[in-house]
Amino acid sequence: MITGDQLLIKQINKSIVLNTIRKKGIISRADLANITGLNKSTVSSLVDELIKDGFVEEEGPGESKGGRKPIMLMINSLAGCVVGIDLDVNYILVILTDILANILWQKRINLKIGEEKEDIIGKIIDLIDEAISNSPKTVKGVLGIGIGVPGITDYKRGIVLKAPNLKWENVELKKIIEEKFHLNVYIDNEANTGAIAEKWFGVGKNARNFVYVSAGIGIGTGIIINNELYRGSFGLAGEMGHMTIDINDHLCSCGNRGCWENYASEKSLFSYIKEKLESGEKDEYLKIDDLDKLDINDIIDIAEKGSSLAKRSIEEISRNLSIGIVNIVNTFNPDLVIVGNTLSGIGDYLLKMIREYIDSKCLVSRYNDVAVEISKLGMLDRAIGAVTLVISELFSYPGL
Ligand SMILES: [Zn+2]
Repeated sequence: MITGDQLLIKQINKSIVLNTIRKKGIISRADLANITGLNKSTVSSLVDELIKDGFVEEEGPGESKGGRKPIMLMINSLAGCVVGIDLDVNYILVILTDILANILWQKRINLKIGEEKEDIIGKIIDLIDEAISNSPKTVKGVLGIGIGVPGITDYKRGIVLKAPNLKWENVELKKIIEEKFHLNVYIDNEANTGAIAEKWFGVGKNARNFVYVSAGIGIGTGIIINNELYRGSFGLAGEMGHMTIDINDHLCSCGNRGCWENYASEKSLFSYIKEKLESGEKDEYLKIDDLDKLDINDIIDIAEKGSSLAKRSIEEISRNLSIGIVNIVNTFNPDLVIVGNTLSGIGDYLLKMIREYIDSKCLVSRYNDVAVEISKLGMLDRAIGAVTLVISELFSYPGL
């Protein structure tokens, strides 16, 4: 007889063994026992189960430390596949990965601003279908679907409570997608998925406390405290795009005034340019009728060609983004701030300005250095984070 507690302990140990193999990349049974503190026979029997489950494989003999050369263990990355979706206001990106988030296939489609909810969900379903039909043969097939959305979500029930820039309210996205595909589906805010991706696979791997700033059409933040995503009491933490930085100005899509994202996002960059052109400023490269067809990367190109207005718009938005980040550092005292999403395309100029603002205006950083980085996973980070919602469950409860 094996009791409930014993089962639980076994499950925890199995997860520890599997995660140690993942973090080390390749490791022997003896080193696994040393690192985890579990005895050798426990490690051996757990490894046997993980091999039988298809999650771990044996790799030729490694270096001998005296005596027989040990058999090395690795994660079998093709134990299964995962589908990840990054739903943004103006595009959908879908990726198919193995269980270590290596990308096997990807596709991105653009959305028109204001597209109907039903049409967007239809497109998500078509893209998932396409991803699944492109999945290679694996031990367990497609293990689940993760979706990052630009809005506040009820993570447990998989409901998009409000996505202001998409004009969505109370959309039961998990239910809709699960009924269609009969797979586990996880829905989270896109800044949370960005933060999780950076923690597992990106520049946040070794940072215990960091804040990921998703600066795109709007702004969201994902907060990692003590190596874990901080969700708040009801799962709504991180809506710093809606912290007030000007109590008088700019009505926001959330109903408040003066929210940070109206001063420091891609949306606000275009409002700035539009305002200047409407007030009569002439620019060789920027015409008011063309603005709808441009994105931030076009504005960066145009600035490099010599447009003064494009250049000033980037300066303005970078400055406002830096001001908000100073507030974040004063609030959380993180080791690291990571900037992701489209504004990260501004690159070194933006990094330099954020660092200058932190150096000159931040109280907390006078006593404790804070690093600032641009996401190296680039525009894939939030889709990789969506995949990680599935992967992290798998690595927490292997074989369940
Ligand atoms: Zn707002």
